[in-house]
Amino acid sequence: MNKQIRVRYAPSPTGYPHVGNIRAALFNWLFARHHGGSFLVRIEDTDRTRYVEGAVDAILDGLRWLGLNWDEGPIKGGDYGPYFQSERLGKYQAAAEKLIADGFAYRCICSSERLEELRAAQTAAKLPPGYDRHCRDRETITGEGLKSVVRFKVPLSGNTTFNDLIRGEVTFDNSLLDDFVLLKSDGFPTYHLANIVDDHEMKISHVIRGEEWLSSAPRHVMLYRALGYEPPLFAHLPMILGTDRSKLSKRHGAVSIIDYKEQGYLPETMLNFLTLLGWSLDDKTELMTIGQIIENFSIDRVSKTAAIFNVEKLDWM
Ligand code: GLU
Ligand code: ZN
Repeated sequence: MNKQIRVRYAPSPTGYPHVGNIRAALFNWLFARHHGGSFLVRIEDTDRTRYVEGAVDAILDGLRWLGLNWDEGPIKGGDYGPYFQSERLGKYQAAAEKLIADGFAYRCICSSERLEELRAAQTAAKLPPGYDRHCRDRETITGEGLKSVVRFKVPLSGNTTFNDLIRGEVTFDNSLLDDFVLLKSDGFPTYHLANIVDDHEMKISHVIRGEEWLSSAPRHVMLYRALGYEPPLFAHLPMILGTDRSKLSKRHGAVSIIDYKEQGYLPETMLNFLTLLGWSLDDKTELMTIGQIIENFSIDRVSKTAAIFNVEKLDWM
């Protein structure tokens, strides 16, 4: 690979670090270490309503326990800290202004009452919820001081296609996406805007994240194009299910990485166990050292099918 490898782990501090989320951190870290690239940590804390006190410390504590060290960041206390999106708001606001100026985004002044009525009408008519583009073609939005959000102008037809390193070519129908919000009325960006502005600024080469973000990727690709940025390469990791093939939850064992730390598991064992959630050396080797994993890690061997979380295996390891 000739491109400088730069990857990131971008958790939202909305709770304690879930093992599925930490698996994404691990795969990014392994990819960086295998290629001699850089691994960054970026706290995506722009949704103030979902912010959980103590979550950032728990995330960093989990990463440190597992030895998933990051390579750069703003210096805090003599050490690299993670990046915090809440400290970078000006960058997202500037990107939103640029998109408006270039005709790719617009201000929407719809009141929350109007949006609620719209939603109620859509529900009653059994239509999928979505913004009706009411403000999209208004000539000018007058009324200084009116509360507004910035929305992206999603093309009304056509498809958005990109290549995913795990799933191959992925195509989404643009008409199924509504004009999503980029900047909220309090000046905070949404996940989509902040995420792509930072991935571009931080020169991220590969976005490796859980499958639950796959449906966000077409929005991100549209934003990259509108801003004239080259999109990174994407790799969406398979879902992690419990042994009964249902969504991973407390029933299947602890879900926070901190619980495993507190229960006295060894970090090396945990790393080995987490690696096997979607990656394998040769479909049979179960016990590996971290050195062996780094040496052999590649996206090619990430499975396309869901990984099964079997906590009994952890005890056996
Ligand atoms: N903040 C998102 C999360 O909590 C990041 C998803 C991504 O990696 O783009 O997982
Ligand atoms: Zn509107």
